[in-house]
Amino acid sequence: QAKNKGKSAFERFSPEMKEVSHERLQIESRMRRALELNELELYFQPIVETCSGKVFGAEALLRWNNPTMGMVMPDKFIPLAEETGLIIPIGQWVLEQGCQAAMQWQKAYGIELSISVNVSPRQFRDPNFIDVVLSALKLSGLPPQRLELEITERLILDNSIETSEILTRLDQEGIRLSVDDFGTGYSALSYLKSYPFDTLKIDKSFVQDVNNKQEDASLVRAIINMAHSLGLKVIAEGVEEEEQITFLNDENCDYSQGYFYGRPMPEPEYRDWLETSQRAQI
Ligand code: C2E
Ligand code: MG
Ligand code: MG
Ligand code: MG
Repeated sequence: QAKNKGKSAFERFSPEMKEVSHERLQIESRMRRALELNELELYFQPIVETCSGKVFGAEALLRWNNPTMGMVMPDKFIPLAEETGLIIPIGQWVLEQGCQAAMQWQKAYGIELSISVNVSPRQFRDPNFIDVVLSALKLSGLPPQRLELEITERLILDNSIETSEILTRLDQEGIRLSVDDFGTGYSALSYLKSYPFDTLKIDKSFVQDVNNKQEDASLVRAIINMAHSLGLKVIAEGVEEEEQITFLNDENCDYSQGYFYGRPMPEPEYRDWLETSQRAQI
């Protein structure tokens, strides 16, 4: 906005900008109908125990299949859903579908998997948020210990009393809490001791070069040690190569997630992945 200061109204509303806002409005109105038209789909990406390679659970990742726009990735539409408030019904749907999926896998394969669900700031601050989470658990029958809510540092760092109260309530219910993309925000580490987090997810930008950049190796090692001494588990994100697993395993990183194990996939494909990995364990 500051950039526009001093410009005439004519300059500020150039034809290009009108175009952009028109496109935005169009996406927005399509997004409003995405839920009822069943265009949203939840993908699942395996989370694996680093030392054993055994499956621990999955992260639920949203996809939007629109007939005109094709497959839309979350980075393209989550910010808009957040701005418009549409993230509230969409987020509720994700929670319900995610918990349900974890229970279905238990019924089909007898394994008690954990499900990780991303929560955006707007959703988190909605007065009904805690009720929505509890009702998703109740509807599915999933024990709260098997739901992990992923929250970014950006949300935590607003330092408000409400943030602290909501996190405490969720923790008291037995729901697990993780810090997503750890290290990419303003890591004011003090929140780690005052809030009831269970897990740190090391951002993929640190994991990427762990085998060829000394600095990244040092950072990842330090994060793992710090997390463990605070009683937190660690998940490494963006694991793509075997050498990364070797490093992470040597450093006692609890869990790993990334293309090396599996890409985010539709539910039926995740089941196939589970079956194959179960067979490999025997
Ligand atoms: P995130 O929660 O950090 O999710 C991890 C992202 O890293 C996913 O991108 C995943 O596909 C990608 N990824 C996983 N393994 C690898 C790897 O080995 N290499 C590389 N290069 N990337 C990997 P995706 O699915 O595009 O999601 C992007 C972000 O959108 C997520 O980041 C999350 O912040 C947000 N998001 C996704 N689904 C939801 C949702 O249901 N609700 C909310 N509020 N946000 C969501
Ligand atoms: Mg996440
Ligand atoms: Mg806890
Ligand atoms: Mg992340």
